[in-house]
Amino acid sequence: MELTGANLIAGHTIQGQGEAFRAIEAATGQAIAPDYHMATPDQVADACAASAEAFALMRSLGLEKRARFLETMAAELEAAAEDLVPRVMQETALPEGRVRGELGRTCGQLRLFASEVRDGSWLDIRIDPALPDRVPLPRPDLRLRKIPLGPVAIFGASNFPLAFSVAGGDTASAFAAGCTVVAKAHPAHPGTSERVGRAIQAALQACGLPAGAFSLLHGGVEMGTALVHDPHIKAVGFTGSRAGGLAIQKAAAARPEPIPVYGELSAINPVIVLPEAMKARGAEIGQGLAGSVAMGAGQFCTNPGLVFALAESDAEYAAFREALSSALGATPPAAMLTPGIAGAYQSGLERLASHEGVTLAVKGESATGCQPTAMFETDAATFSSARTLHEEVFGASTLVVRCTSLAEVKGALAAMEGQLTATLQMEDADLAAAQALLPTLEDRAGRILVNGFPTGVEVCHAMVHGGPFPSTTDSRTTSVGTLAIDRFLRPVCYQNFPEGLLPAELQDANPLGLRSRVDGLWV
Ligand code: NAP
Repeated sequence: MELTGANLIAGHTIQGQGEAFRAIEAATGQAIAPDYHMATPDQVADACAASAEAFALMRSLGLEKRARFLETMAAELEAAAEDLVPRVMQETALPEGRVRGELGRTCGQLRLFASEVRDGSWLDIRIDPALPDRVPLPRPDLRLRKIPLGPVAIFGASNFPLAFSVAGGDTASAFAAGCTVVAKAHPAHPGTSERVGRAIQAALQACGLPAGAFSLLHGGVEMGTALVHDPHIKAVGFTGSRAGGLAIQKAAAARPEPIPVYGELSAINPVIVLPEAMKARGAEIGQGLAGSVAMGAGQFCTNPGLVFALAESDAEYAAFREALSSALGATPPAAMLTPGIAGAYQSGLERLASHEGVTLAVKGESATGCQPTAMFETDAATFSSARTLHEEVFGASTLVVRCTSLAEVKGALAAMEGQLTATLQMEDADLAAAQALLPTLEDRAGRILVNGFPTGVEVCHAMVHGGPFPSTTDSRTTSVGTLAIDRFLRPVCYQNFPEGLLPAELQDANPLGLRSRVDGLWV
């Protein structure tokens, strides 16, 4: 399928009238056709108005039809693989295996949400029947279900061009909730975004659903801000930088009707190596850690950018250090997603290298257009006193903080900002130390791992890809896994409704066969 460079607005292919830009081939820095034109304010308004109109139907779509739409999106994306995969590779420099794997994950995610929609538990049905004879006052009949928020604006991530972008987890969970979507294409992969957007359009058409349920717009900060300001938009999903996420949150809060922003921003994902683990498997942990740090050129939100190393002897620390630094040093340099991301990584490395009390342990090979791996070292006092060392360096580097006591680790963790993950490397004999750290880890992170590495996020029911700020802008939820649907829902209570006026989900006849909580008990 040939790319047009157009915005996709409510089923129509509409050329933007704003500034033109092209995708950049990530490996060479060359511009690639076609030209994309930024959407104008009128085009943003048209997309949002169409989204609101389509929402009137999508909100009350039966669960089976909604599930089939998500499955059709997955099938359309699979059918697009042969022209989609090469374009993703060109725009991102990600290798074919990774891109195909991410496509599989994106389709699996859509199918998981389809099964979640059919299950219906997320509607959170609660029924408190009337108690007319209760004294001193009777109780009215009260029934609760969750309903979708409305049109959602989605800002795709640069680092997961499929799984966290136009048809990624935010879009899948918004559609699953019954919302409609206006997506802003990430300028790092406009062609990928257009091809994925066309698959969504095709799925809507195949399912006989309103075309306005999905639009895709190209543009920069101005267009993105106009999208957040549009009065039809009722929530925002965002993955990207801390500065970008905060700007969008500020814009959303300043609207006459403020709306929620679910932003996933930045994290450095501490890994804590406890003393017995260091003694038993220091070198093995160092090697595994290097693989996690360097995976995908370090362009993962769960990249372990910080290690607290507790070793009882210099020799034990040296074995760990040697394994980590030699594996990282031997990792070939890699092209990054965009020149901007590569530039930010270089500045981050310079910031660490020039910081007092921080030393560069190893820097991998450099090559034209590619970025090296790196490992830095410091001590707990330096780390705890310098906020700049707590900031994300997005890329294949890590900072190892050698600690001399558990109290130092606990103090450093408590001083840190929120994280997507925190990892314990431990043996049975480290149990008491792990227990002592656990409350602090729960305070700081959305997912706590034992004896693993944080890269690799399973898409399932129990996953939490979230955490306190700045890992996200709302620590109460997740952007991966079925619980993500909850971000785009709100509860409504129906009091004393006659059976004929009640939504099907809440009727006594229970025509949808849903689980519900009646008088506090699950039935
Ligand atoms: P970004 O600059 O935050 O951009 C993400 C999206 O938000 C883009 O569509 C961007 O549009 C838009 N945007 C940014 N600032 C905005 C504003 N003030 N108002 C409205 N829209 C705005 O993120 P990125 O380009 O993906 O990567 C840049 C840096 O973000 C990386 O170097 C890394 O540090 C961090 N990052 C972190 C993660 C993570 O998971 N932790 C993931 C990706 C990136 P325009 O580009 O068109 O302005």
